[in-house]
Amino acid sequence: VDQLSRVFDVSAPWLTRMIDRKPKRYLRAVQDVTFVVERGKCLALVGESGCGKSTVARLVTGLYRPSEGAIVFGPSSDGRPMEAQMIFQDPHASLNPRWRVGDIIAEPIREFGLREGNDAINGRVAELLRTVGLSADDTKRFPHEFSGGQRQRISIARALASEPEFLVCDEPTSALDVSVQAQILNLMRKLQDELGLTYLFISHNLAVVRHMADRIAVMYLGRIVESGETEALFANPQHPYTQLLLQTIPDVTSPNRDRQMMGGEPPSPLDPPKGCAFHPRCPVASEICRSVAPDVRQRQGGGSIACHMAPID
Ligand code: SF4
Ligand code: MG
Repeated sequence: VDQLSRVFDVSAPWLTRMIDRKPKRYLRAVQDVTFVVERGKCLALVGESGCGKSTVARLVTGLYRPSEGAIVFGPSSDGRPMEAQMIFQDPHASLNPRWRVGDIIAEPIREFGLREGNDAINGRVAELLRTVGLSADDTKRFPHEFSGGQRQRISIARALASEPEFLVCDEPTSALDVSVQAQILNLMRKLQDELGLTYLFISHNLAVVRHMADRIAVMYLGRIVESGETEALFANPQHPYTQLLLQTIPDVTSPNRDRQMMGGEPPSPLDPPKGCAFHPRCPVASEICRSVAPDVRQRQGGGSIACHMAPID
């Protein structure tokens, strides 16, 4: 795994308790999920809400532990253990409102012992703020004094403070206005180039993902149904679900449009359909799809696919 940042093989159920606790029920949030994120690249996980992509993000960053399977890191470039940082959708919720911005960013620097002494730490905080397009004067202010986009910049600065090589970004721009979204995405791309970062980028928005990702893995009800290089997937989607997603790239002015065109919500992961979980919504489902789950196999032109009807090399 030398050239790899991480190899994932979460090949068995991970159990989570549902929010309504009575009766206690568990679900397989993700299953048979295997993928590789190459160093310096961006892999996007795409799918509707509830497909398991945030669960994968939390597994990768160690917030959750898989019940089975493994998450393997390659070595970091300086021999330290590979450090992954997470950027969340809602910086408002993930930034401590009672802390000044300078303290928020300084904390990981102290915790990881990356600078000695207050002057060096303050200097590093100022440098990080400039890196994300904010001002060194912003250290004394509180998160609520900033706009949503600026708060996401603060989150990024905090994530960078521990000098990670790997960032897991869970819908980092979904809560932002479209114009601000583009600014944050451009910043993230610039940082990736300048710092050689590796991204696992989680999104429901294919337009956003096309802008960011080298490779895409499409998830449906806890499984990866198709994966491949970004442009290959856009040019030639082979899984019926990917095809539908591409036809219904969310219109940013109408957040519910994709839902309507997709024929309703996905089924509950608590009670997934038999056979191929997509069959109730699939326009080309046949008899076998209702009883036999498709295996994951090589996708024509590269990548992977799980569909009985997909073309075979
Ligand atoms: Fe549709 Fe069958 Fe393919 Fe599932 S396996 S996506 S139901 S054609
Ligand atoms: Mg989510």
